[in-house]
Amino acid sequence: MRHQRRGTSGPGAQQLPEAEDFQGELSIGGSQDDESCSGGQLTEETRVREMRARRRRALQAGEGPALSHNALLCVANKGFRNANCDLWTLCSGCSGRQEAPRIRTGTLSVWSRSASMQDVPEEWREERGGDGRTGGPEGKKKKKKGEESLMMELTRLVQEAVEGSSWWERRGIDCSILAAAFLCLPPAFLLLGSSQVLLFSAGMLLMGAAHAVIAFKGTHLASHGALSESQAWGNFWAVFFIEVCGSFSARVGVQGHIKMHHAHTNVVGLGDSSVWKVPCLPRAIYLFVAPLAVPVITPLVALAHLRGHPVAHVVRTVLMVALGLYSQYWLLIHVSGFLSPLSVLLCMLACRAMFSVPYIHVNIFQHIGLHMFAPTSRPKRIYQMTHGVLNLPRNALLDWMCGHSLISCHVEHHLFPFLSDNMCLKVKPLVSKYLMEKQLPYQEDGYFSRLAMFFHKYQELMVFAPPITELVGVQ
Ligand SMILES: [Zn+2]
Repeated sequence: MRHQRRGTSGPGAQQLPEAEDFQGELSIGGSQDDESCSGGQLTEETRVREMRARRRRALQAGEGPALSHNALLCVANKGFRNANCDLWTLCSGCSGRQEAPRIRTGTLSVWSRSASMQDVPEEWREERGGDGRTGGPEGKKKKKKGEESLMMELTRLVQEAVEGSSWWERRGIDCSILAAAFLCLPPAFLLLGSSQVLLFSAGMLLMGAAHAVIAFKGTHLASHGALSESQAWGNFWAVFFIEVCGSFSARVGVQGHIKMHHAHTNVVGLGDSSVWKVPCLPRAIYLFVAPLAVPVITPLVALAHLRGHPVAHVVRTVLMVALGLYSQYWLLIHVSGFLSPLSVLLCMLACRAMFSVPYIHVNIFQHIGLHMFAPTSRPKRIYQMTHGVLNLPRNALLDWMCGHSLISCHVEHHLFPFLSDNMCLKVKPLVSKYLMEKQLPYQEDGYFSRLAMFFHKYQELMVFAPPITELVGVQ
């Protein structure tokens, strides 16, 4: 199996214009997300002037690369002081909720000179324009009759493997792992009622592990509708796992993960992968301490993203999130025998944050630092996914908690997102063999190798990287 690791300077990086060159190209009108953060008080001309001035100042102060055009507009219009903080934390109302946001070349800032911006070769390109529209009949005519694209050929091979698999292989194994995680909860609540330190610790560990399986693997599979063949059941499981168990909004999660991250993987400003990017934090705090706050921040971010959604939807999400949190609270008091609300809340935080550090690591390791693509010259899907996605090695703990599709089969998952974790594992040899035969990359790297890289290149990868425009929710 070919082991390919990418450097951080893509072949096209030097050909891209300097950040200042983009200033003249920043267009202002016509974007809903721009309008939503304009406040309706500044004229277009004033906004442009303000934005350019702030951008120049930010670049001079070394902050420019982390700012997008949208972020600058929001900074200009809302007066945010710390412009280098993450887009969604400060400005979620500006960027969320759009179906297909338009990203301008202004997003391609100084970062592109040092990171792996891919200059997409002609033969890689999609037969559509930069706005995502298909090339029309002329483009289709270019295809010779009977010619089978690489992606179609690989899809056919995978489809045959899926059709030759039983229900147990397709869904049963993953559903059983999730059911086992729920079955671990009663003994975990009982063990947490013990006065012996060892038994109490075993209870904490059991509940933390069960929560990780349900909240990471369960929410991810549910967001893809991979737990059921029925759409109605798929919707039910998405609400149950993402809202009740994951304390997030199913609608926002699916929008961010399926419609943005999977649809626009590593396309600058659209499909960046990190759920958690706080460039103002020092690297050690960001990598090892801040993820512990994920259980607290997640429902708050969900609420922020629900602005503008229908009231019924907001009420449902709030009720479902409250149901999940209160159920655990109630059981810890009435089954485990906790006496004070503070001890209950601390126990809930400890269990929910127990594995959030590796979760955040996995979340950033598999896309950031790989090839990025401009929205105007995105490659065909097979090139996009093989160059912009990386697999980590198999690891029993991570496999159980996150599922194969997030760990050792992330490439397969991005090529075939409808497959369950077990099916991704099953088609992995087939996919890797095919990609090697076609001399396409099959990128793999070790967990600690990626950790060392992110630690040493934190500024380049996490601070000067293009900002995300959408909270992904689940990876
Ligand atoms: Zn996914």
